[in-house]
Amino acid sequence: KTEREMNQVVEKEASLLWNAMHRYNPEAEQVVAVKGEGSWFTDESGKRYLDGVSGLWCLNLGHGREEIADAAAEQMKNLSYFPLTMNHQPAIKLAAKISELLGGKYQTFFSNSGSEANETAFKIARQYHNQTGNPQKYKVISRYRGYHGSTLGALSATAQANRRVKYDPGVPGFLHVYPPYSYRSIFDGSPEESDLKAAQLLEEMINWEGEETVAAFIMEPFISGGGVIVPSMKYIQRVAEICKKYNVLLIMDEVVSGYGRTGKMFGFKHAAGVQPDIVTMAKGLTSGYLPLGATAVKSEIYDVFRETGKDSHFRHVSTYGGHPAACAVALKNIEIIERENIVERVRTLAESKLADLHQLMDHKNVGEVRQIGFLLGIEMVEDKQSKLPLADAKLAEVIGLCKEKGLIIGKNGDTVPGQNNVIIVAPPLTSTEEDLEFLIDTLESAIRSL
Ligand code: PMP
Repeated sequence: KTEREMNQVVEKEASLLWNAMHRYNPEAEQVVAVKGEGSWFTDESGKRYLDGVSGLWCLNLGHGREEIADAAAEQMKNLSYFPLTMNHQPAIKLAAKISELLGGKYQTFFSNSGSEANETAFKIARQYHNQTGNPQKYKVISRYRGYHGSTLGALSATAQANRRVKYDPGVPGFLHVYPPYSYRSIFDGSPEESDLKAAQLLEEMINWEGEETVAAFIMEPFISGGGVIVPSMKYIQRVAEICKKYNVLLIMDEVVSGYGRTGKMFGFKHAAGVQPDIVTMAKGLTSGYLPLGATAVKSEIYDVFRETGKDSHFRHVSTYGGHPAACAVALKNIEIIERENIVERVRTLAESKLADLHQLMDHKNVGEVRQIGFLLGIEMVEDKQSKLPLADAKLAEVIGLCKEKGLIIGKNGDTVPGQNNVIIVAPPLTSTEEDLEFLIDTLESAIRSL
């Protein structure tokens, strides 16, 4: 037997794995990845695929960075595990680096995933208000189409249909507001005007609910899993003003948008003057090499948890949160992003290459192409007038064709069949020009074959 044959998992074994993303195309044979290199991976049969969605938009630096693997190995040999109920150097250094990157002074609580980073943020927001004389401020507002995680609190902030259809009721006190989705807005006017009206709905909601009851507003700067929605930067600035006005903490979910994906180190940096109270991150923080979540809070908030003589500490712990190896990986990841000017690179190639996909706007089934950096969504419709979401079967055809030719792309939007009509393109930030050309040509020809 060849080595490859020996390494192949048999069908019976594969049937014992609960594959979370089976929904992309349940009939299609699942790819079993065995090796990664740059933006590409190889399956058991030796076939190569370009990963057009960076795993789950996390593989910012692509596969096979030995430096990162070495950083993890060295850390594991040196101090294999240590809890953050005490301190270790990689976590201290990483928290300092995150504060520097965010601008301003932030303290960071580490966990293991994006969901957990957001859960942590909600608990911090509630306790903060509790300890600053506003114990009734407990509600958390998020947007329809927003995605914030899969655990019950984060899922309650996730206002997509999977929550509503299968897991309601959510956690009490989680409310949802209309998103800045200008393509399908109920408001008239330019995209910017309709986005600003969506921001106004947040203020309305806070007033109706009573500002004395609202703890936090959580948003992705650019809704990602909900179909890549890129609002006017004025929308982000306006919601930040509203949050400030009503003492509502602004939680910026940078799980997807952080670490260069959008052409800035963080998505919120596109909106001049916005400085979130809390920033959550995961995915690109380690480029996916090891699991790590982070919740960075402004020092004014953190200080409330340090008041002496009071029971002010945060009653929250995560056994593996801030694992030394994961922190060492994150530090190396950030070092490479800075050393190789990855953020600048994304800005340039997003314009000079990836933006070619906007040419698809002349196709009858393409309703809108939305892009910010290496985050791009193509909203597929039956026709431009009706804007009816393209039938699932036709979309599966496009994704299947790409896969056949060796390109993995995703689809998203809302999570129910029939509304999952946005093609997602989010390649590793280190993709070569040839990689991007292959991606663009393959996807374009698949869509044009419709
Ligand atoms: N926030 C956003 C914006 C996300 O896209 C995701 C994951 N897709 C999460 C949070 C949750 O992250 P995780 O899957 O690591 O829990």
